[in-house]
Amino acid sequence: MNKLLEIIDLKKQFGGLTAVNDVSFSVAEGEIVALLGPNGSGKTTVLNMISGALTPTAGTIALAGETISNLPPHKIAHKGVSRTFQLVKILPSLTVAENVIAALAFRPNPLWGSAAQDRADMLLADVGLSGRGHEHADDLTYIDQKRMELARALAAEPRLLLLDEWLSGLNPTELRVGIDLIVSLRARGMTIVLVEHIMEAVRALCTRAVVMNIGSKIAEGPTDDVLADPAVIAAYLGD
Ligand code: ADP
Repeated sequence: MNKLLEIIDLKKQFGGLTAVNDVSFSVAEGEIVALLGPNGSGKTTVLNMISGALTPTAGTIALAGETISNLPPHKIAHKGVSRTFQLVKILPSLTVAENVIAALAFRPNPLWGSAAQDRADMLLADVGLSGRGHEHADDLTYIDQKRMELARALAAEPRLLLLDEWLSGLNPTELRVGIDLIVSLRARGMTIVLVEHIMEAVRALCTRAVVMNIGSKIAEGPTDDVLADPAVIAAYLGD
């Protein structure tokens, strides 16, 4: 399979603390890979290095064979990496459509005017917010805010989507909806790295999982095997 994302010997030190210690893994085109581990194991730091928010201390990150780990965040976004955040980031005083249109302006070839409006309508339909563009963003329920956030992330037409606990905080019914939305992205061939604590979602969505503990990779493989690995269970129990 074609490797879309390849991470080799990635390291991040904050002063004397090694938050990420020589971590390597790759993600094939169209795959959804879970990045797991107890709190503080370095998952968000890895996502921040992939998106360029943090510069690695050592190691390389390549997207489709091209090194991106020396690029600033906006260039990495233009190469096709998009992410959502643990806490929903919306522009609350704008409408739903305006939130998506604002994201469209950050594309490598920005869309404006009616082209942006049309594209925003399509993106909102893709995430189940058809006809809801005129509503105020801060009036949306939590799951609908998540849908809008996803539409914003998809506005960049990413090749790689980074989801940082995007499903957290949803009730069981909303969780089903959220999982189904990611399934629909998978069906369209989207490549995703998913940081997630909800194991039901990890099992439902991810073919493979990578597990970190205290900055190091401790397991990698098919999701069910990894979740049954005694070293992984011990790491979570020690949390
Ligand atoms: P996870 O996402 O797995 O919970 P993080 O990547 O957030 O873990 O954190 C890994 C380690 O790096 C933790 O010990 C955390 O305190 C530390 N850390 C994360 N970000 C910073 C930062 N900006 N400055 C200093 N230490 C940080």
